[in-house]
Amino acid sequence: MTSRVLGIDLGTTNSCVAVVEGGTPLVVPVDRGFYTLPSVVAVDPDGKHLVGRAAKRQAVVNAENTVFAAKRLIGRDFDDPFASRAIGSSPFNCKAGPEGDIRIQLTAGPNAEPHAYAVQEISALVLGDLKRAAESYFGEPVVKAVITVPAYFTDRQRQATMDAGRIAGLDVLRIINEPTAAALAYGALQKGGQRKVAVYDLGGGTFDVSVLAISSDVVEVLATAGDAFLGGRDFDDRLLEWLLALIEREHGVSVGGDRNAMQRLRDAAEVAKIELSDQLHAKVALPFLATRRDGQPLHLQCELDRGQYEAMVTDYVDRTIEMFLSTIAHAGVQPGEIDEIILVGGMTRTPCIQRRVSDAMNKTPASGVHADLVVAVGAAIQGSLLVASSPGVKLMDVTPHNLGIMAFGGLAETVIPKDTTIPTEFTRSFTTVTDNQEQVRIIVYQGDARHIERNEVLGEFTLTGLPPKVRGAVNIEVSFSISADGIVSVAARDKETGREQAIQVTGRHRLHEDEIRRMVSDHQDNLLAAIAEGTQVPGEVAQTLIAGEG
Ligand code: AMP
Repeated sequence: MTSRVLGIDLGTTNSCVAVVEGGTPLVVPVDRGFYTLPSVVAVDPDGKHLVGRAAKRQAVVNAENTVFAAKRLIGRDFDDPFASRAIGSSPFNCKAGPEGDIRIQLTAGPNAEPHAYAVQEISALVLGDLKRAAESYFGEPVVKAVITVPAYFTDRQRQATMDAGRIAGLDVLRIINEPTAAALAYGALQKGGQRKVAVYDLGGGTFDVSVLAISSDVVEVLATAGDAFLGGRDFDDRLLEWLLALIEREHGVSVGGDRNAMQRLRDAAEVAKIELSDQLHAKVALPFLATRRDGQPLHLQCELDRGQYEAMVTDYVDRTIEMFLSTIAHAGVQPGEIDEIILVGGMTRTPCIQRRVSDAMNKTPASGVHADLVVAVGAAIQGSLLVASSPGVKLMDVTPHNLGIMAFGGLAETVIPKDTTIPTEFTRSFTTVTDNQEQVRIIVYQGDARHIERNEVLGEFTLTGLPPKVRGAVNIEVSFSISADGIVSVAARDKETGREQAIQVTGRHRLHEDEIRRMVSDHQDNLLAAIAEGTQVPGEVAQTLIAGEG
């Protein structure tokens, strides 16, 4: 097996895989020769898993068994307000898993029992398809991968993404931040002296900003921020609301409860949005959308212009610009000192977004960097650096959130501040507060709010077996570390005896090891079944295209 490492951009809407071959990044064709794979998974009435365009195409007739935007749910609680919002606007059903995590219920045909999938399993199906496409392209197994995540992902979301990789049979060498990957690709493409780069990344589900200093041998992240719940789908929703209001006003029909009609409207909203990037007007035509009150079919036909659309989404664009500028300020950089602006993500093809970024910075964003592929290319470059024998470009990323512990009265006390370069480690000393105190309970959180309830609790641990002493006499050193993947671990040592306490931050929603093992084997069974049946294995198609038809 070679030392090839897949660079995977596991996107909310689309995913992409690249590899560095002979020193040159190469994007692998997936899904019938396309370079991106829609991050869509479905179960068809025969119980077969469909991924990518095949899944997307059948969504209208099988909406409740088709999963879009699983990335919005990965590593989140079922009762997390953001997740609830995403679940509420999804056509598929979800329920709480054994640990309060999210399980997606999909049913293979009308008589089958629903099967509850962990979000990681859904993402694993997408990753598995990318892996297979790369393997059939290269004609040999490839297991190593670097996967990108939004810079703003928490520890749990990163862990869950790693687990998804494992379920798909990948050895995930590293999780890296999407904007960092974009800058890495850019740094590799444009050699030169030290340059300050700001990345504005608006994809299907998330918004990310990173400010970096790039030279030919170091890529250093100076600051990063993001909004894990602002992306293209929110822009689509505004258009969707507009369409629903129009139908209600002009036809007196409410189609909100009709899943298939909603799916068609959602698709049409996205198509109109994309059209408005190139044209000043877009038409929406959806025949037989629903049934009118008089029993006649409702054929929707309407038109809107770019100005109307821009007015619907100004507040979203404002939000991104504010965050973009404040992150640049947080990096200690003046807007005029930014040498290059990189736009990443499909949404940055929107003219008003390009205009607003240019106006705010008084500079035109860089061109020549392909917004859809650049993240996977950066991940592949990072992958090749990780397995290279000689040191190449050094990547210095930062942690996007404060990491802290709960202090007296529920106040959040920061241990490692956001924007600290990772990997990093920090040690704090704790003492007992009562005489003969036997244990200390410590809650670890991630987030930027002053009160712990508004942050994400990563887990908690209890130091036990403390020696019986008067209060304040026991000294325990607790070290917190964040790995290069952004993953948190905690260790404790009794200072006096030097005794190490074996502690683990028990993330409440990690999949159990045996559950992951079962999922890995399910995943493999599915793959074997698919090959035995001769169903689409996208890579084979890709190879045919490479062989001459493409
Ligand atoms: P990404 O996550 O980077 O693949 O971005 C996907 C998002 O970009 C989706 O919301 C798409 O609807 C959106 N998108 C793709 N192409 C365009 C375009 N030409 N204009 C505006 N939005 C687009």
